Amino acid sequence: MTSLDLPQVKGRLVVDGTFRVAGRDDLLAIGDAAYVEWQGRPLAQLAQVAVLEAPALAANLVHLIRGEPTEPYVHKDKGDLVALGRTSAGARLRRFLFLTMPRDVVFAGFPAWTVWRVNYLTQLLGVRNRGSLLTEWLLSYFTTRMVSNIP
Ligand SMILES: Cc1cc2nc3c(=O)[nH]c(=O)nc-3n(C[C@H](O)[C@H](O)[C@H](O)COP(=O)(O)OP(=O)(O)OC[C@H]3O[C@@H](n4cnc5c(N)ncnc54)[C@H](O)[C@@H]3O)c2cc1C
Repeated sequence: MTSLDLPQVKGRLVVDGTFRVAGRDDLLAIGDAAYVEWQGRPLAQLAQVAVLEAPALAANLVHLIRGEPTEPYVHKDKGDLVALGRTSAGARLRRFLFLTMPRDVVFAGFPAWTVWRVNYLTQLLGVRNRGSLLTEWLLSYFTTRMVSNIP
């Protein structure tokens, strides 16, 4: 096996605006594996970032195969959702999701928890996955946690 000497920051491959590593057309990286700077700051190692980058990388891969110019990635942060206990959460939704809003929408409590849960469900693929998770959530809401007492 050959190891390549590639630019890294904290174990992440440094990529350019089109996800190319070291300017190579045959080596692209996204998600946790990639160090992507956006507006002077590195994008976080979060699922949202990886999910947003994936279609952009796929489009550039097609461009490269066809010999077309690649397109620079434009990061559109959607905001943050954080679960805070059984029925509470914090939410920051980016302004562009609500064009009439002057700034990001920030809220907490049960409304944020509902948005968190609905968002989570919609991210899953397939009715079966969504149905089984929803059932699991309902069961866990009405039952106590299963814990064992280890002597
Ligand atoms: C405990 C934990 C909690 C987290 N919680 C959150 C959260 O609440 N919200 C959030 O946004 N993000 C969270 N993250 C971060 C999130 O999981 C990652 O940012 C996201 O999964 C990155 O996606 P990815 O596709 O880049 O990498 P991954 O999801 O890690 O996928 C990489 C895949 O490549 C496979 N792989 C690795 N090496 C090889 C190889 N040599 N050959 C073939 N396959 C290989 C791996 O098995 C894996 O399936 C959490 C991470 C951890 C560890």
